[in-house]
This record gives sequence, C-alpha cells and structure tokens, in this order.
Amino acid sequence: MKIRVQKFGGTSVATLERRQRVVHHIQQAIEEGCGVVAVVSAMGRKGDPYATDTFLNWITENGQSLSPREQDLLLSCGEIISASTLSSLLNREGIPNTVLTGGQAGIITNDNYNNAQILTINPKRVQEELKQGKVVVLAGFQGQTVDGETTTLGRGGSDTTATALGVALNADVVDIFTDVEGVMTADPRIVEDAAPLESVTYTEICNLAFQGAKVIHPRAVELAMQTNVPIRVRSINRDHPGTLVSSTHEQHRVASEVNDRLITGITQMANVTQIKVPAGEGQYDLQLKVFKAMAENGISVDFININPSGVIYTVYDHVADQAETILRSMDLKPELLRGCAKVSLVGAGIAGVPGVMSEIAEALTREDIPVLQSADSHTTIWVLVPGEDMVKAVRSLHRKFDLHKAHLTS
Ligand code: ADP
Ligand code: MG
Repeated sequence: MKIRVQKFGGTSVATLERRQRVVHHIQQAIEEGCGVVAVVSAMGRKGDPYATDTFLNWITENGQSLSPREQDLLLSCGEIISASTLSSLLNREGIPNTVLTGGQAGIITNDNYNNAQILTINPKRVQEELKQGKVVVLAGFQGQTVDGETTTLGRGGSDTTATALGVALNADVVDIFTDVEGVMTADPRIVEDAAPLESVTYTEICNLAFQGAKVIHPRAVELAMQTNVPIRVRSINRDHPGTLVSSTHEQHRVASEVNDRLITGITQMANVTQIKVPAGEGQYDLQLKVFKAMAENGISVDFININPSGVIYTVYDHVADQAETILRSMDLKPELLRGCAKVSLVGAGIAGVPGVMSEIAEALTREDIPVLQSADSHTTIWVLVPGEDMVKAVRSLHRKFDLHKAHLTS
C-alpha cells in the first residue's frame, strides 16, 4: 500500500472551516489509493485557547516555573485535543480512523524534555491501523522515552514528526500543509509580491530555514533527506500540490529549473549583534581565546571573519551583554553593534557565478544600505545590515533578482 503522511499546522486546524479542508485533503489522498497518516499540530496560534504558546503563557502568568517533564505533559495536550477533534469530523464523514499519541505511534525519544530528539520509531502500531483501512490521526510534536515518559520535540516539532514517520513508513510523499501556497521566494509577510516556488532542493530549503524562513523546520528536512522522501509544502486552501522539495539528482521533475536559477529565495534574521575584537600587536592566538571563551559560556557564534587585524563575529542580541562582559574580563576591547539583521540569499545555482555579489552591492547601495559584513558558500550569500534597513534590503534584493517572477504552474 502507498502511504501518505500529511501534516496540518496550527493555522490549518484552527477553525472548523479549515478542519473541513483538512478532511478534504485526507479524502483526496484516500481516493489516490493511499493509506493516510495525518499529523496535526495544536489548534491556532498564541492567544487561541489550546495553542502551545497559550499553555506556555499560563505558566508564565502564574509566575511559577514548571519542571521540564511536567511542562511536556502540559504541552502534549494541545496536539491530542487537535487530533481528537479532527477524529470526530472524520467520523462524521464515515472515514474510519484512530487517534494515536506520539508514544502510541512508537516515536521513541531521548529524555531531553522540551526539545527531545527522536531516537527510533517503531511503526508497528501505525502499520497495523493502516492495514485495517484506518486513517491514523497522529498528535504531532511529541514522543515518549523508553521509560514511557511523555516528551515534546521543540519548535517545528510536528514537521519533524511528519518526516520521521515518512521515513519510517517509506511514504511516497510527506505533505506539509500550511497557510501559504508553498515555499516562497521570501517571507510573504515582508515581501508583498513573494512568489511560490515550483520546486526546491533539500539543501536550499534547509538553508532558507536555518537562516530564518520558518515555513518548515530544518531538522524535519534533514530527516527526509536521509532516505530521499519527497516533501510537498502546500496550501490548505488549494488542491495545488505546492512546492516539491527533493534532491536534484533523482527526483526532480524540473531539475533544469533548479539548476538554471541563480537565487531561489531570500530570508532574514533580526536581532543580531556584530562584535569586533581588534588584535593587539603580534597577537596571533586571539581567535582561539575568543571562541573558546564563547563556547565555554554556551554562546553560539555566527558569521565569523578572522583577519590579521582582529576577529569579527555575530551573536544574538539577547546574549550580547554577556559576551561583552566576558571579552572585557579578558582585557580585550570589543566593539559591539547591536540590532543588526542577517539577510541571506539562497540558491543552488550561485556556486561560482561571477558578479552576484556586485549585483547585491549595487541593489543595497542604491537604497543607501550599508553592508556591515558579508560571506558566501556554494549555496548561500549572507549580508549583515543595520536592523532598521532589513525590510528594505530584503525587498530591494527580491526585486533586483526578479524573484517575483518565480511562480507555480497552475
Ligand atoms: P504552520 O502553523 O502551518 O506550521 P508556520 O507559521 O510554522 O505554519 O509556517 C508558515 C509561515 O511561514 C507562513 O505563514 C509564512 O509567513 C512564513 N514564511 C517565512 N518565510 C517563508 C517562505 N520563504 N516561504 C513560505 N513561508 C514563509
Ligand atoms: Mg510550523
């Protein structure tokens, strides 16, 4: 039997009207002859009654902390409520189904509560239910330790549940349903004419996600990549298959499209601090000292640039004060620039293409946006800009590379 994993995010299950769309998509997969595993997130976003962030709010409002184990028990309820509610709608349509928690579905994690990693999946129970012709409605974002303790998987956890199940069940496709048409050339909340992409590679979407595009969690993509399970990112409101995410080599329907385009998408990350530490005369071990001190204090560093006159790197704004204190205690004289933003241009086609950086510089200069730092790899170019210029930078680069012209074929 062909198996289809479908993931429905928080907004997709938030209202009765959308949940009816969920039922529609499940029905379609059944009509295509698939056994269906429907992974659901908690209903809605912050402020909605049973959204994950609402539960977290209750705890903070109480001014009381909750131990990680108990917090996971609380958080896991959101997905169970959502899954059971969907089950009743499926019943109404006469679609046989079973609701399973992460633990019941055989998702075994370590005991890193609040951000647990999946160790193994024993899909026997899920396979049995599917064999009986039932839709498995699976509570996303959760698992169980070998000792039977409930755990949650951290941000983007339902994406991870879906692709992990996709791999374990050897699904034909993992569908990630959400509130946008697919993977877009930029965050549609920032760029009005951002366009949905026909296809992207695992590497491209991972890079976009790591650099701030939250459309799918990078950990989920990395899992799918292991066995080349194709992912489709698609809209709950449409029947269009959305954006196909796969490796270029074997699966790409439109491999030439992926290879021909220079820039696939642009993403951004705000609240970043740039730190410059000048080297003293003849001081050759500066980078070693600086990065060792950051590591020992659990401060993650990014955008590293080392040259004879010193080291430059970035940290998140919220640890900037801590980093500064550490550096000063080492008798160094750091210069900090808070509130910067990292803008990333991602594309499998940028490797070695001359002139891309000059086009970026041209677009930003025209808007009087200073480039504080830049770096590149074979798939990504990063530029650091002042935070207040972030939106303007993303928009002007989007225009410069004509990204609004990317589109889904209907
Ligand atoms: P879900 O609740 O379905 O998991 P998310 O909010 O996690 O939904 O992800 C979807 C959101 O991701 C979209 O509403 C969009 O604003 C945002 N997003 C950011 N960058 C992109 C991008 N490049 N393509 C598509 N969506 C993006
Ligand atoms: Mg999400």
